[in-house]
Amino acid sequence: MAKRRAPTRKKPAARKAKAAQAAPKRRRKQGAAFLGLLEEMTIDEVRAFKPEVAVLPLGSTEPHGPHLPYGTDTWQVTRLARLGVQRANERGARAILYPALPITNNANVRAFPFACRMGVRTLIQVIIDIAKQAWEDGVRKLVLVNGHGGNPGAIFGALREISGMDDMPFVCEAGHLKPEGFVSPIEHPSDHAGESETSRMMWIRPDLVRTSKLRNNPISELRIPALAMANFVRPWHLYIPQSAGGETRKASPKKGKIVIEAEAGALAELLVQLTHAKLDATFPYKL
Ligand SMILES: [Zn+2]
Repeated sequence: MAKRRAPTRKKPAARKAKAAQAAPKRRRKQGAAFLGLLEEMTIDEVRAFKPEVAVLPLGSTEPHGPHLPYGTDTWQVTRLARLGVQRANERGARAILYPALPITNNANVRAFPFACRMGVRTLIQVIIDIAKQAWEDGVRKLVLVNGHGGNPGAIFGALREISGMDDMPFVCEAGHLKPEGFVSPIEHPSDHAGESETSRMMWIRPDLVRTSKLRNNPISELRIPALAMANFVRPWHLYIPQSAGGETRKASPKKGKIVIEAEAGALAELLVQLTHAKLDATFPYKL
């Protein structure tokens, strides 16, 4: 009897062992499980890690034309920040990555449905509050990684406010860093949902790219050409009526990988240097 039962007992155990071996492999491949990813750490791990730098990605939830999903900005900035923090920490940095903010500034996109948004002043306050919390948790350097074109105004507003406050970390924004001499493979640059964003999503989440809908989406011309050199907030439904602008048919996962890995490498370099930098009275200068 014992001989008959033995195989039935061994089979599930063998399957379990195989599954246990496979699971961590899958996680490593996706780049999800590593030290510094706050969402996956325990309180004991966070305390032992003693973070030197905090990283806050800012995403967005808004339409991206007929071919890309609403979460495009958040997916992109999450992958960029994860790769950057992972590479930095592998090189001895102690950067802790906050979850990405999925809803930010989109007042100029409101003519499209479900362009999720908070007020500009609200976002400024959110950034200030998170910076304050980072300081209270013992972090003296905060890096914002912005992945959405509607946010720079609020980000710089927050940075200006913080520069006049006591007991706040050094804060910078570093969402578009590139290594020196980097040549972009993108042939058709666009402000929104063009070849660059499509390529990035083809690499990150190919399952979410509607490849049958790739086309050259129209970008409206200005009545007064001089306005191209002036600053104003573009009503998105008039500027790019399809909620995407520009040629997308030259997009490829290879281009997306090249761009994101370049940005992640440059971000990692900054995080390594910030980790080891002493935050004295003359930081960030050499005086
Ligand atoms: Zn986008």
